[in-house]
Amino acid sequence: MVKGMSRLLLLLPTTTYRTQAFLDAARGLGIDVVVASERPSTLENQRPDSLLTLNFQQPEAAVRDAVEFANSYPIDAVVPVDDETTVAAAAIAAALHLPHNSVESARAARNKHEMRSLLRRAEVPVPRFWLYSLLENSRAAAAKVTYPCVLKPLFLSASRGVVRANDQTEFAAAVHRIATILGTPDVQARGGDAAQQILVEEFISGTEVALEGLLTQGDLRVLALFDKPDPLDGPYFEETIYVTPSRLDASIQEKIAACTARAATALGLKHGPIHAELRINESGPWILEVAARSIGGLCSRTLRFGIGMSLEELILRHALNLPIASFERDARSAGVMMIPIPRAGILQEVRGQEKARAVPDIEDVTISAHIGMELVPLPEGARYLGFIFGRADAPHRVEAALREAHSRLEFIIAPKTD
Ligand code: ADP
Repeated sequence: MVKGMSRLLLLLPTTTYRTQAFLDAARGLGIDVVVASERPSTLENQRPDSLLTLNFQQPEAAVRDAVEFANSYPIDAVVPVDDETTVAAAAIAAALHLPHNSVESARAARNKHEMRSLLRRAEVPVPRFWLYSLLENSRAAAAKVTYPCVLKPLFLSASRGVVRANDQTEFAAAVHRIATILGTPDVQARGGDAAQQILVEEFISGTEVALEGLLTQGDLRVLALFDKPDPLDGPYFEETIYVTPSRLDASIQEKIAACTARAATALGLKHGPIHAELRINESGPWILEVAARSIGGLCSRTLRFGIGMSLEELILRHALNLPIASFERDARSAGVMMIPIPRAGILQEVRGQEKARAVPDIEDVTISAHIGMELVPLPEGARYLGFIFGRADAPHRVEAALREAHSRLEFIIAPKTD
């Protein structure tokens, strides 16, 4: 137990995978948690001190409601979970005079065009880019860019709507496909003006890594560097395997950390977790993105610090300024496979789960999609089928175990009928 008076405001979008991990961490610390989400809970009246409804899309309204709440129940820290809540968290923390990222920096990290513009201005290596408006003539735009290129919405995540185009014909097809995604009512409501735009970037070849970090007064501490051993060459960019520690040379890892730190500074991010994606080729590291949040999905389960602290506990301790015994990731290699969606349809059955769990070095297999659910592959989809977790003495053993476990799973998917 720590000073029992600490109260944490946790901003949880309804789509998050991470509710349990953060609540477990808070319970372990013995702190009071106020869970804020965008949909009213029927329990809110009975538990006015621990449940709150906030409109994450409208930070001004969220600030007003959070400040009113804090007048009755003082808040010691605000922690955003996933991309949808980072801007609201920054605005609320500013209003409550708590350590925070500026609202502008949180916004910049949420808008891929703004991010690119700030990084280019600061001379952080980023791909060349062009902003394309859906009102423009796509043929004229297709003639202006260089190939191969990558087209993407400005504000979505998990590679949703990210498409590679190798020539002008593919460019037009990608625009059409992304425009359809941007036209769906929920996406349009979230995107506002940005739902009328597509960012086009030069395709950067090379291997990809993900860096999990923590900023304190602008200083970056690297918590983990993950290799992504599956090639991500498109046309869509489905995340699969993450393995840490990285097998890249120490000198390259240092460059990756330095490049990420410069990117965070250029965006103005100063406080709390960041999750960065980079590509590395003969020119060195390139920033693909820096998000003002920790790793998504259930992937944080791969990480343990010191004698077994979860990433969520570390983040909460950092936010509440509580002691952190160790930032060292435990010595074993660890990894996760975000299980790819093999095809569109209705999930009927998942076979082989026990056989997959029985693979040596496999810790767990979690199927997060439920039976009867419609599976939507990329680029339209946004959810994972599930996650496979492995831990072993060396990264290549983790990777092999994840692949073996995956090969033992069989997904029965029926065509959608309507
Ligand atoms: P999201 O925020 O949806 O994850 P990203 O911009 O990070 O979108 O892109 C998702 C993935 O697409 C990246 O992890 C990478 O594999 C690929 N990708 C995106 N942009 C580029 C690029 N300019 N060059 C090469 N690959 C890219």
